[in-house]
Amino acid sequence: MKHALLVLATACALPPAPALAETVALVGGNVVDLDGKAPLRDAVVLIEDERIQAIGSRASTPVPPDAKVIAMDGKWLIPGLMNMHVHLALNLPGASRIYNETPDSMVLRSLDNAQKSLKSGVTTIRLTGSDAGVDFTLKRAIDAGLFDGPRIHTAGSSIVATGGHGKTEVNGAAEFSRAVREQVKAGATWIKLGISGGISDTHGDIGASPFTDAELTTAIEVAHRNGVKVTGHSGSPIASDAAIDAGIDAFEHGYFLTPQVLKKMKLKGVWFIPTIVVSQSGAKEFYRKIGSPPWYLHRVDSVGKAHIQALRDAISNGVSIALGTDQYPYEPNEGTTATVREAEIYVDAGMTPAQALRSATIEPARMLGVDNEVGVLKPGYYADIVALDADPIADIAALRTIGFVMKGGKVIRDDRIQP
Ligand SMILES: [Zn+2]
Repeated sequence: MKHALLVLATACALPPAPALAETVALVGGNVVDLDGKAPLRDAVVLIEDERIQAIGSRASTPVPPDAKVIAMDGKWLIPGLMNMHVHLALNLPGASRIYNETPDSMVLRSLDNAQKSLKSGVTTIRLTGSDAGVDFTLKRAIDAGLFDGPRIHTAGSSIVATGGHGKTEVNGAAEFSRAVREQVKAGATWIKLGISGGISDTHGDIGASPFTDAELTTAIEVAHRNGVKVTGHSGSPIASDAAIDAGIDAFEHGYFLTPQVLKKMKLKGVWFIPTIVVSQSGAKEFYRKIGSPPWYLHRVDSVGKAHIQALRDAISNGVSIALGTDQYPYEPNEGTTATVREAEIYVDAGMTPAQALRSATIEPARMLGVDNEVGVLKPGYYADIVALDADPIADIAALRTIGFVMKGGKVIRDDRIQP
């Protein structure tokens, strides 16, 4: 009889019910507060699927009996880091430059770099210039769950006037509007304009402003009409000044931003993504490694002093800063990663550790317009969580101790578990 019932039950069995949402509990860690309040010590963070369900003290936040518990005793929990200036298929002047790289090899290289970036604790990136649409392919694959990787926002191919610092060369307002629309059609959620020259350029004057007013205003207007923000490669205060008047939303690098331009940025709410690591001493090991020519190393040296001064002035003027590196987020730099080193230099240049941590979390989220989803550890937000061995509000160098990375509730890295 028992057997018959079992057969009946099996025969009538419905298709398996969808798996119940998995609950993960991070237990015993200290949750760092980005608003200057004391950390929540000995906390429980409950995560259901991709999002944080509850955060509270151990006493007030019961852990469901079926939850998967991950001990966080002695760890400091912060939101996943965000890096706002990334090229996943970086190809700089030097012996290791890859010539004639095909899009398929570029997308594989980008995937490898995306995965290494995520493992280093960077859960969201903004791409500021990619080629052949590989960024869109990669973003779709990661969003679809085919591969682990950071959340990607991308500006597609950077747009410039012919001869400028960027990939898609166009001329005149009509061609600029077409180029912007094409990037938006392909999936760009930002537009990057090469409004002035770069350190690696071998022609032209980095201090010049080669766009006409019509080109600049049209490109920015068309992007804004499509709900897309615009950032400019800023190597020239004159070009930057014109771009602010034309309504630009952000500047990358800002090697030579003057206090005057910075005041205007503050007034208009223009974001600054410093990428300070590219011009400071730690980057030299990288440039030597890739075999950069001497003229390039000299130029980096000479730009470095102006660049750090621009950063100091930006901080003292209260300009909104979102962290970006222009190097792979995980690139080794002075004993840590480029992302962490960038945050450390912000503190050297006048930020408090809390401000530097905000510039790597909630500030980029605000700039991207996703501050209701990422950048903070709160119920309802994505469970993008990094654990440290020390308190980053006491010393930003605590970011050097990243040993655990979670993205959307999935453990990507836990150094305590031997593979
Ligand atoms: Zn760049």
